[in-house]
This record gives sequence, C-alpha cells and structure tokens, in this order.
Amino acid sequence: MPATILVVEDEPAIQELIAYNLKQAGHQPVRADSAEHALNLVRTALPDLVLLDWMLPGQSGIEFAKRLKSDKRTREIPIIMLTARAEEQDKLLGLETGADDYITKPFSPRELNARIKAVLRRRAPEMTDDTVEIGGLRIDPSSHRVSAGMTPVALGPTEFRLLHYLMTHTERVHSRVQLLDQVWGDHVFVEERTVDVHIRRLRKALEPTNHDRLIQTVRGSGYRLSGTV
Ligand code: CA
Repeated sequence: MPATILVVEDEPAIQELIAYNLKQAGHQPVRADSAEHALNLVRTALPDLVLLDWMLPGQSGIEFAKRLKSDKRTREIPIIMLTARAEEQDKLLGLETGADDYITKPFSPRELNARIKAVLRRRAPEMTDDTVEIGGLRIDPSSHRVSAGMTPVALGPTEFRLLHYLMTHTERVHSRVQLLDQVWGDHVFVEERTVDVHIRRLRKALEPTNHDRLIQTVRGSGYRLSGTV
C-alpha cells in the first residue's frame, strides 16, 4: 500500500537516506526540515503518516506532535518519533504525546519499513468494518449500506468502495492515481478519467440529499471529502 509519508528531519543526510528508503519501499516521501515547514505542508495536504525527528531547530518534534494531536483535522495522522535519545523516560514522553511508535537512531531501513507497515496496518481505517458517519451521510461496510439521514442511497460496488475510502480519509486531497491505487487496487490498466466517471456517478447518487457537496474537486490535484462544507 503506497502511503504519503511526511519526513520531518533537519539533518540533510538522514532526511535523504530516509526519503530514499521510503521510495524504495513504494511510499511517497514529502520532506520538511523544521516543524514550521512541516506545519505548512500539513495545511495543504494530510499525509498518511509522519516520521518525526525529536530534536529540531525551532519547535521540537514533541511540540509538533502535540500540535498535530490537539487539532481535530490532524489528530488521526499516525506519528513515528525518530530520536537519538534512548532513555526510557524519553520514550514514555514521546508515546504520551500521542506518537504511535518510537525508533531510536541509528536504525536500519528494514526496521523502519517494518515499523511503518505495522503502524499503517493498525491505523488504516478503510480496512475495518466500522460504520462511518459524516454530516448525516452514513456508510456501513458490514451490511454494505449507505444512507443519507433516513434515505437509503443505492450505489454500485465501485462507488461504494470509493465513498468508503473517501469517508475514512477525509480532509485530504487524493490524486486520481492515488484513488486508482487505493480503490481499484491497480491502476496499470485503468485510465485516470475512470475516476472522474465514478465520482460523477457517486455525486449523482448523493445529490437528492445534497451530500454531493461533501465531495470537492481540487483543481489540478484530485478530490477531497470534507465534513466542513
Ligand atoms: Ca535533528
């Protein structure tokens, strides 16, 4: 599963090495060398995971993690702390802040990848059967039902998967290629415009109750489902 991973690391060599390893593992790294820089990136698009160095110039990694965890929009992003500090006390502090895991430098690419995989598996909500409700729109994967208020919504299987993915990954922009990866599973034989066709069908099905407004087109980038319309 390819994931967008925000790497917040001020040491260029380590940042480079991590980014290289993430690409090798099939992920998409986005880089920042300070918490302030990272915050700007997060404002634009939510990553699937943050690799966060503890010791940063300016705001520390811990402060940045606290900030992400205190904001409703960013609260759910998993965080793995990277640190040279191996003391047990520090580890506890990192985890109390809301970090999902903790890696002590130096670490091997293999260890890093294994941790990332574990955290993503644990935190990937589209893998679960939990009912999700946003703005009165409700999707229940176990019974395969969608309703808008009291009104049942009939969807085709692809629209259902698309909606479920968008509803479990709100507030971030998904490119057509990302959606093909996540919803279709393999985009090699599917054209990007296929996504537009299914988005159109999905919006049409949600139109009678005005829930089509939840799905926003981000020009030049893709689509976003937002509960704050
Ligand atoms: Ca550092």
